[in-house]
Amino acid sequence: MIKKILVPIDISQEKSGGAALSLASDMAKLKGAKLVLLNVVERVPAFVESQLPKNYTETALSAAGEKLAAFTAASDLDTPPEIVVRRGHPSTEILEYAEAIGADMIVIASHEPELADYLLGSVAARVVRHAGCSVLVVRKSAD
Ligand code: ADP
Repeated sequence: MIKKILVPIDISQEKSGGAALSLASDMAKLKGAKLVLLNVVERVPAFVESQLPKNYTETALSAAGEKLAAFTAASDLDTPPEIVVRRGHPSTEILEYAEAIGADMIVIASHEPELADYLLGSVAARVVRHAGCSVLVVRKSAD
């Protein structure tokens, strides 16, 4: 049974995020599932953070929340999803959060692999490999 679908959104990639969200929304409608959108704000190295204004992290997190809310509003969904922003490494946070909320499915976009991806792996590849639930990968060319 699919009751909770997690859709990680990289707000710098609206096109692929939109494609994943649209598919996830169709799936949620079909299954009567709840949609949860997650954006992860990556940490900056400590030596950089020490040079930034004190409220840098709070500002970055609230700006991400606002962007994600605007993106969601523009997506014209039938039911408003829950919006979550976390801080950390994208694939780690996606996997941990999916586990924490008991997501039944993750819908994630992925670009065509480039050489660096074979060496470093990608966010989507790590999520597919390590998730405890089903993962739907939406293939779209990079924005
Ligand atoms: P790939 O995994 O194909 O290398 P990306 O790293 O660009 O491509 O990201 C793939 C997908 O991973 C994004 O479409 C999004 O679903 C998720 N993702 C990447 N970065 C983030 C982030 N900072 N917050 C939330 N989701 C992210």
